[in-house]
Amino acid sequence: MADAAVKTAGKVKSVTSTANPLVKQIKALAMKKNRDREGVFLAEGRKLLTDAMEQGWQIETVVCSSEMAADPGFAATAARCRATGADILEVNGKVLGAISRRDNPQTVIAVIRQRWKEANHIAGSLKAPGDIVIALDRVRDPGNLGTIIRAADAAGAKGILLIGECTDPFSLEAVRATMGSLFHVPIARLSEDEFVAMALKAAGGVQIAGTHLQGAVDYRSIAWQEKPVILVMGNEQQGLTTNLAGACDKLVFIPMAGQADSLNLAVATGIVLFEARRDNLVMRTIEGAEGVSSA
Ligand code: SAM
Repeated sequence: MADAAVKTAGKVKSVTSTANPLVKQIKALAMKKNRDREGVFLAEGRKLLTDAMEQGWQIETVVCSSEMAADPGFAATAARCRATGADILEVNGKVLGAISRRDNPQTVIAVIRQRWKEANHIAGSLKAPGDIVIALDRVRDPGNLGTIIRAADAAGAKGILLIGECTDPFSLEAVRATMGSLFHVPIARLSEDEFVAMALKAAGGVQIAGTHLQGAVDYRSIAWQEKPVILVMGNEQQGLTTNLAGACDKLVFIPMAGQADSLNLAVATGIVLFEARRDNLVMRTIEGAEGVSSA
């Protein structure tokens, strides 16, 4: 990819028809096969665009309402995107609605180049005790995947490994659920065999903990901070494959008290992840959050 510094500035175009070929092309990115072919995806909202830009992701096109284009604060963001080659497409509400498939669409939608990491690169970032990578076995639900990416970001995980046929982290629904964390968390995909080989190679230096409904160990009893960790989570319907369960050093269980057979995948991931990262979590003030009296 060309260096941002030598990129030609993008163009500004105005489009009012949903039949415009450019609009049709962007709309088609709702389908995975088109995202895969083009290597790009859609992100909605000004915050996601800013997050992507600040993290150095390549913005290909910024679609925005003419009202948004006239906003001085947004104009600065758009100018920065243009300088790195992004086209700016000023459209009406009908076009925005058609692209996002929503009645109340965001006033900004960005087309962004996908970014995948190598699985070995993510595994290689496990250096110190407390470091953690989350491995997901055939995660199917985009909302679950987006929520896990957000939790991984919040907990300071080093990355996510998608094992086997997983839902696309770049689908509109998954991207929405990440709330921008997609731009902070490295993601790689690999086959089950590749993961098992990686687990064998890492044996000894890394603790590989699978979560399992037949797990014999209470997740609260693990010495999570002894070594770096790969936390392996099972598929929503079937749990972990026998092969993956066998590649884990231990299988942990989250004790429950009510009648539910199991927890939702994203909830289970959050519970174990935050326990594993307990010693690394910090109190901080979140910008924009309402203050509360401590009295
Ligand atoms: N029917 C599936 C099964 O038999 O494993 C249920 C899968 S559960 C909805 C999805 C994943 O969340 C599980 O594979 C496991 O990784 C994790 N999980 C959910 N509840 C859990 C619990 N109580 N203890 C350990 N892991 C749990």
